[in-house]
Amino acid sequence: MCTACRQDLGRGFTPTRRSVLLAASAMGLLLADPVRAKETKAPPKPENVLSPDASLKRLMAGNKRYVEGVARRHDFKHEREALVGGQNPYAAILSCADSRIAPEYAFDSGRGDLFVCRVAGNFATEETVASLEYAVAVLAAPLILVLGHDSCGAVDAAIKSLKDEKPLPGHMPSLVEAIAPSVKAVLQQGGDTLNNAIRQNVIDNVAKLGSATPILNAAVEQRKLRVVGGIYRLANGKVDMVA
Ligand SMILES: [Zn+2]
Repeated sequence: MCTACRQDLGRGFTPTRRSVLLAASAMGLLLADPVRAKETKAPPKPENVLSPDASLKRLMAGNKRYVEGVARRHDFKHEREALVGGQNPYAAILSCADSRIAPEYAFDSGRGDLFVCRVAGNFATEETVASLEYAVAVLAAPLILVLGHDSCGAVDAAIKSLKDEKPLPGHMPSLVEAIAPSVKAVLQQGGDTLNNAIRQNVIDNVAKLGSATPILNAAVEQRKLRVVGGIYRLANGKVDMVA
């Protein structure tokens, strides 16, 4: 684990019942009372302190620049210095691990802007939920975006494995197991099964994260967090919102 994470964990986040209480406490401090939080410690990137709606708007504006080929120049040297003491990303993203999807590029964002969890098939595991709880409760991220993409190999492999009833080699059956419920939900639908399953997988994981107790669901209920879903289009880089 990186030094910065250890520092943050040391401030009150370990995967125990006590940590949930501490994290919830931190969420109250950081989200319910921004003035007090600011007094406690100024965020390294003040421009990242946004409402959930403003966060989504900023993501989409960044994606528009990326699509149009007018991405901004990011001053990594300056950002390194600002981020030594902490982080306050303006959004968290659960993305597929596919090498063609690069959230920081796709949303034209710098270091310290996006808290990104990636796994082939962009589904939420126990560890992912915990990571995103940390992003929301401790780092005060106001938005979680589940980001699928067209032609997803993990979803395609899950469809083929279920249809052929042939298990994949190695540890890959764990991907199939996680994606299978979304695939099964669309098998009887008309149209393109792969596209439908990719979309359903995003929708299902948005629902899972938004209802994950006790931290994420509470933040959603208090309107401090939005959980949304999008699909990255490989051909032009555009992210279409689906949830
Ligand atoms: Zn994929």
